[in-house]
Amino acid sequence: EVEIPEDHPRYQSLLTRHRIEEGVEKGITSKQGLIAEGRGESFDYLLGEETLPSADAAERAAAAQLLLAEHAVLSVNGNVAALVPGETVALAEATGADIEVNLFGRTEERMRAIADHLREHGATNVKGLAADARIPGLEHERGKVDEDGIYDADVVLVPLEDGDRAEALGEMGKTEIVIDLNPLSRSPRTAAIPIIDNIIRAVPNVTEHARDLADASRDELEAIVADFDREAVLDDAERAIRDV
Ligand code: ATP
Ligand code: MG
Repeated sequence: EVEIPEDHPRYQSLLTRHRIEEGVEKGITSKQGLIAEGRGESFDYLLGEETLPSADAAERAAAAQLLLAEHAVLSVNGNVAALVPGETVALAEATGADIEVNLFGRTEERMRAIADHLREHGATNVKGLAADARIPGLEHERGKVDEDGIYDADVVLVPLEDGDRAEALGEMGKTEIVIDLNPLSRSPRTAAIPIIDNIIRAVPNVTEHARDLADASRDELEAIVADFDREAVLDDAERAIRDV
């Protein structure tokens, strides 16, 4: 166990790195996931390691969209499971969404390890293991989803998703919410609601907004989604990075 001093100026970043390391050791996170983490960290550094007001607006719109959904699904991969397992369960509870394990490099061992890890953090119904449907346009393994999960969903939260799959889900007519620190990555660029923020900060903040909006009317929720400007969010994050 590595002790990270809480007063270290880069405490959050070190903690994140440590959780990913542990994820790899437990067979939850892939080696590819380690590389993705490094890429994310560099963007977070440039964004000042904090949530931009524009990202907060996206997080509020995401909460409204999840609450409006007929069937929302939160997609979980190896990095998400390592970084925010309990926070993902809390978001599912706050919005009535399902949780589905969905991996770019799918192996049955990793699927099971992640599902177990999520259950240890309070998840009661973890989807993704049935794999009885396919996302059209993707090669067999990469397209596997659950028929009563992502395949059936109208709204999907895909944090740290690969660009190809984000596009394929969009083509299925799903409303996509993507969390990704890189505003230039294809995944947030294809999303209806791109959240340019660290998943560590983003998921709890979407939950907070969802709790705050729990008693809002459908009209209010629809207005939040309608007023949301995805281009402004992407431009603002890019500007913040360029103006460092
Ligand atoms: P594409 O352009 O096809 O989307 P990519 O280069 O983004 O490709 P990915 O493997 O999808 O390739 O990269 C992982 C993405 O996850 C990166 O864009 C990275 O910024 C992002 N990322 C990594 N860690 C985090 C994190 N903790 N929170 C949010 N985003 C993260
Ligand atoms: Mg990407």
